[in-house]
Amino acid sequence: MGLYKAEGVVLRTRSLGEADKIVTFFTHARGKVEAVAKGARRPRSRLLGPTQQFTYGRYLFFEGKNLDTVSQGEILQSFRPLREDLDRMAYAAYAAELVDRSTEPGDRHEGLFPLLVAVLGLLAESDELPLVMRYFELRLLGELGYRPHLSGCTRCGAPRAPYFSVELGGLVCERCLPADVAATHIGDEAVHVLRYLERAEPGRLQVVRPSADALAALEAVLPRFCAARIGQPLHAMEFLLALRAGRGARAANIDSDKPIC
Ligand SMILES: [Zn+2]
Repeated sequence: MGLYKAEGVVLRTRSLGEADKIVTFFTHARGKVEAVAKGARRPRSRLLGPTQQFTYGRYLFFEGKNLDTVSQGEILQSFRPLREDLDRMAYAAYAAELVDRSTEPGDRHEGLFPLLVAVLGLLAESDELPLVMRYFELRLLGELGYRPHLSGCTRCGAPRAPYFSVELGGLVCERCLPADVAATHIGDEAVHVLRYLERAEPGRLQVVRPSADALAALEAVLPRFCAARIGQPLHAMEFLLALRAGRGARAANIDSDKPIC
């Protein structure tokens, strides 16, 4: 059984026995890896820091029959604000859950690892958390091969298409609306933002300053689109919405009667 090194991000951890934990990593070289971190819950363990959720590090693994074992870890970026600020934590947990649910152990998606690291960095620092999240959802969909059709109407190609259909997989114009009566009106500004996010480098997100209405429109469609394509309910998204609702934050009010998943 082999030994391998990989850069990875800790997506989640669960306790095992008295002091061990099972860590789900998303690695650059091998995609998702589940590994036992022996003794990692002991306060003096050298694995304690490197196996905290959302940490980006370089790890040494032993291959096992069922589960691998992580034997060493070196922190490259700890992304501490993601564990200290409840809002940032909720967004990062949603990002981690999206990656966890949409990938299988061993499938490597070129581009998804650097995207995840960049987005965790933005979630740790940015004041525009919802915008960062919409960017992540859109680019994740692209990496997984579910990129929504955004260049015009999905049905007829008309350039002005201010509706979004989860079912049809992209924008829809007024005339084609009967093809999906459940399509959501998102408006021209939200369409423009989607087209920008589809191509933008992570460091260029601050260039776009969407209105609250455009952000609410995107929040009404992108999480639902992700949940529909991934095909599983996303608990972290529900938590995030509950957290916001509990604070009296104005939740996405477009189609708010529709369930997210
Ligand atoms: Zn059309």
